[in-house]
Amino acid sequence: MIMHNFSSGPSILPETVIQQAAKNVLNFNNSGLSLIEISHRDLAFVEIINSARNLALELLNLKDKGYSALFLQGGASLEFVRVASNLMCLNKRAGYINTGTWAQNAQNEASYFGEILEIASSKDKNYSYIPKNINVPNNIDYVHLTANNTIYGTQFKSFPKVNVPLVCDMSSDIFSRVLDFSQFDLIYACAQKNVGTSGVNLVVIKNEILNNLERKIPNIMSYQKHIEKESMYNTPSVFSVYVSYLTLNWIKNMGGIKALESENNKKAHLIYSEIDRNNLFYGTANTEDRSTMNAVFYLKDDRLETKFNNLCKNEGIYGIQGHRTVGGYRASMYNALPISSVEHLVNVMQHFEKSL
Ligand SMILES: *Cc1c(COP(=O)(O)O)cnc(C)c1O
Repeated sequence: MIMHNFSSGPSILPETVIQQAAKNVLNFNNSGLSLIEISHRDLAFVEIINSARNLALELLNLKDKGYSALFLQGGASLEFVRVASNLMCLNKRAGYINTGTWAQNAQNEASYFGEILEIASSKDKNYSYIPKNINVPNNIDYVHLTANNTIYGTQFKSFPKVNVPLVCDMSSDIFSRVLDFSQFDLIYACAQKNVGTSGVNLVVIKNEILNNLERKIPNIMSYQKHIEKESMYNTPSVFSVYVSYLTLNWIKNMGGIKALESENNKKAHLIYSEIDRNNLFYGTANTEDRSTMNAVFYLKDDRLETKFNNLCKNEGIYGIQGHRTVGGYRASMYNALPISSVEHLVNVMQHFEKSL
């Protein structure tokens, strides 16, 4: 049976990436050694991590613009902490936009380092929309927001203009759409949604925001130290970096972000059209704020749940359960998901409607 993988993360990867990764785990570049048993200081690996760092900047159109790209460990959740510990030092205050669970977690973790001003929130309507016209107060060290709310299926389509560093958690939509990435001073993304496997974060940082920061923090937390050491301060997550390297090359070969965005828009249009048309289902996210990556929807009659779940299972649809905190369904449509999988899900939803 062909499997259609809508998992929210870890999630689908391009098949060629998995094949290349598997091959090189067995025999890295025909060296007779496995990728995961060679030194991270081996020149062949150093070239891979540097090439991946360059490629990330190139795809985001941030090359030669004063940015550094790093591959760090600890998941996006550690970046919540690293961002605050590096940047919350002048005013010891930061502005956070609360658009869902991850955004809330980011501000909770940052609160250990200073005062959090929640400058906007969509909690009042169960995170179903993206706040607009946000006022940014003075005397804060940075503003933090979450580009795509993986659990609630909402996504910023434009971003507030601020005159302090703008920090963006792009874990679930990096490389999915064309943006002016230079509007951000720090972008981070755990790899397991659109970049590779879990175990590594891509962090893209404008070097200049680290200047004149007077703060004593441990090296492992310091972006400055990781930049100085070219992302090799300590042993990187070799396998995860390698899979990111393969995926970034795949993105480039597909035609870059622009080509993927066009596919992603088609996929999103297909699924949302069906959610709106089909009388059995409804979506919760505000129409204009709907995510192109994660479509969240529910059955109007939850007594049909078991029946629909079984149908999906029999049809090879994997991973469309909603997040355990919100229930319902979530179709995650990351870059590697082919449009044929979305067509298949739409067919199954139509078939389900007719079968009742
Ligand atoms: C998945 C996710 C996270 C958490 O990532 P971990 O690597 O599990 O820490 C954070 N932010 C967003 C937007 C996510 O989608």
